[in-house]
Amino acid sequence: MVNTYLTLNESKSEKLSKSVDSLFKSMRMSLQQTSNFLASNEGMSDEEIQEHLELLRGNSRYFNSLSWVDETGLIRSIAPISVGLRGEVINGVTKDVLDLKKPNLTTPYIAPSGRLIVLMSEPIYDDQAKYRGMVGGTIYLQEKNVLNEILGNDLIDDNGSYYYVVGPEGKLLFHPDIDRVGEDVSANPMVQKLLLGESGTQRVTNTKGTAMLAAYSYVPETGWGVVQQTPVSYIEVLLDDHIQTLILYVMPPFLILLMLSILLARKLARPFNHLSELVNQLAAGKVVEIPETLSHWNREADILTKSVLIAIESVQENNHKLTEVAMTDSLTNLPNQRKFNQVMESWILEKKLFSLIVLDIDHFKLVNDTYGHKVGDEVLKEFSEVVQSTIRKTDLFFRYGGEEFVLLLPDINSIEAHRIAEKIRVLFENRVSVTGDYITISIGISEFPLHSASFDELFIFADRALYQSKENGRNTTTIWSEDQMPVKKE
Ligand code: GH3
Ligand code: MG
Ligand code: MG
Repeated sequence: MVNTYLTLNESKSEKLSKSVDSLFKSMRMSLQQTSNFLASNEGMSDEEIQEHLELLRGNSRYFNSLSWVDETGLIRSIAPISVGLRGEVINGVTKDVLDLKKPNLTTPYIAPSGRLIVLMSEPIYDDQAKYRGMVGGTIYLQEKNVLNEILGNDLIDDNGSYYYVVGPEGKLLFHPDIDRVGEDVSANPMVQKLLLGESGTQRVTNTKGTAMLAAYSYVPETGWGVVQQTPVSYIEVLLDDHIQTLILYVMPPFLILLMLSILLARKLARPFNHLSELVNQLAAGKVVEIPETLSHWNREADILTKSVLIAIESVQENNHKLTEVAMTDSLTNLPNQRKFNQVMESWILEKKLFSLIVLDIDHFKLVNDTYGHKVGDEVLKEFSEVVQSTIRKTDLFFRYGGEEFVLLLPDINSIEAHRIAEKIRVLFENRVSVTGDYITISIGISEFPLHSASFDELFIFADRALYQSKENGRNTTTIWSEDQMPVKKE
């Protein structure tokens, strides 16, 4: 944009320079014609010449005043007549110009009238080439003149651009601020270049300290220069506008794109979030429901989901197996004490009627001592299988530890349980074991919730009843009752 404005100003200053150039060529021609006219019409009276000058000035409007000064310095005619110098003798700068006896254009100077002017002059030579004075045309620089009439339509553009014209000694001939006309601006580096007859563009700071993008163009006819410049701040305003428009156009699609990206990102992340939930559930020890068909359009998510689900399934299976192993007695394959605790706790929570039967093999130590530990193991296995085959499918049989077993009989009261226990006791009483001998068992029974609603108490009650059976001589079944060694509650 800076370059654009520099170029723009360059072409404007060139155009202005050409205008000024051709204007002054025309003015010069007009003066020459007047000079020729005066030379070839020596017989004309001063009145006639005055009239002629008035006519010329009025027609061309090039000069604010047009005068004929004879070789003695006497002002013979001056138009308009209102200038009032007719008949006076010139001096100062005007006299110097007269004495030059050749075409001239002055730098701005203060005329006797007090006006700041430039004077364009053309000598008059008669047939015998005798110098007969000069024709002088003035431009009142600080008043309405040909320069500001032609150049000064829009002194300052909407964008703050303006131009000025400097004379050969670096004095302002034309400036939007009329008070500055005549001011010496030769210190301005751009003006110095103009004085050397150069043209170009450059960034400058004007007298008010405003940064400007300037172009300067030399006017060969007059030795003047035209400077056209635009404030840099205007470019910044333009740039701001430009950026704002850009943002206005770019923001909505950008926001839409952003929202779409977020939506897409969330859609992409959803399967991973779901997987992380499943893994968290697994980590928290919860049972993870493996979805039957879970597929994703995103290939990576699909592959990962399938792999993770397989891994979760396998971990859960292993967990399940480990739990099974942890809850199974390896010798008898019966559920162990851990499983028993779990089942009984849940039944108590459910407030389900059930009976607890505790069975203990009598004098088992003796079996070991007599037949060896291995045979003891076989006895335990055989005992387990036999009991297991006697009970209902809904009844649960556990190895509590050592040669002590428990039975949980759902929906069975202690009376009924006693009948079942007796059946088992009698069965072993009459059965030869792997030892070739008989084994007997002692049994204790308690009932939920009749005897107690507490896990510990129920178990202790059944154990007390078992103890009672041992006390009563073993190979006996006892239901717990209040009179058997009551449990001290703390
Ligand atoms: P009581 O009639 O008072 O119950 O006498 P008991 O000998 O059966 O009871 P005690 O508690 O004195 O001894 C239990 C024995 O059971 C001692 C232990 O060596 C044996 N035993 C415990 N677990 C096993 C096992 O897994 N295999 C074998 N072979 N013996 C076991
Ligand atoms: Mg025993
Ligand atoms: Mg025992």
